[in-house]
Amino acid sequence: MIIHTPAHDLPLSRMELPDAVRLMHAYWRRHRALCAIDGVKQVLFIVNQGREAGASLEHPHTQVFALPLVPRALRDEINNSRRLFPGGCPLCAAREEARRDGRVILENEGWMALAPFAARLPYETWFVPRRHEPDFARARDGELRAMAAVITRTLAALAAALDDPPYNLWLHTSPCDGKNYQHYHYHLEAIPRLTTEAGFEMASGMHINVVRPEEAARHLRESLP
Ligand SMILES: [Zn+2]
Ligand SMILES: [Zn+2]
Repeated sequence: MIIHTPAHDLPLSRMELPDAVRLMHAYWRRHRALCAIDGVKQVLFIVNQGREAGASLEHPHTQVFALPLVPRALRDEINNSRRLFPGGCPLCAAREEARRDGRVILENEGWMALAPFAARLPYETWFVPRRHEPDFARARDGELRAMAAVITRTLAALAAALDDPPYNLWLHTSPCDGKNYQHYHYHLEAIPRLTTEAGFEMASGMHINVVRPEEAARHLRESLP
């Protein structure tokens, strides 16, 4: 568990930039330390903001999991990006497509926040570093700073646009099992909890998204602080 701040009611979206940068450095240091432990294959960072998003503690915090296996969601991402983009990278391509299609929410020198082409749920947001890099452990100082700025501002836009919705945010990075994941691109994903999964989603594993990602990106751009 990483406690973001001494302030009980200060969400990530309202943290001062230097404090958010320190938080990203804390992620980075924990990631490296946990990956170095024998038997740890995957490290996951997860923020549950709001009770409806599963937060059991009110005080802003990040849950850190060091797992002895690579969970299925990540395994699927890793295998599918290798299979569907041989020699390329889906997230490098996604950044270009987002620029072309007006789905960029925010971009700075190191990172981009975008609404993905096939967003599963309304206002699903991806955070992607501009430099292709599989492993969060190799993020550079300037990139951690840019990461903090993009995440806090985009979450502030989400809060302003959608009346402070509960959300889940997580970091996906290459496993720490010593294998080659050069094709993979580390990133974060955020999903505000605006809808409830119903029978169709459970029966089919498919999602019906009623908000076009172009529209979500525009709304969030207009709500940036
Ligand atoms: Zn890439
Ligand atoms: Zn992912």
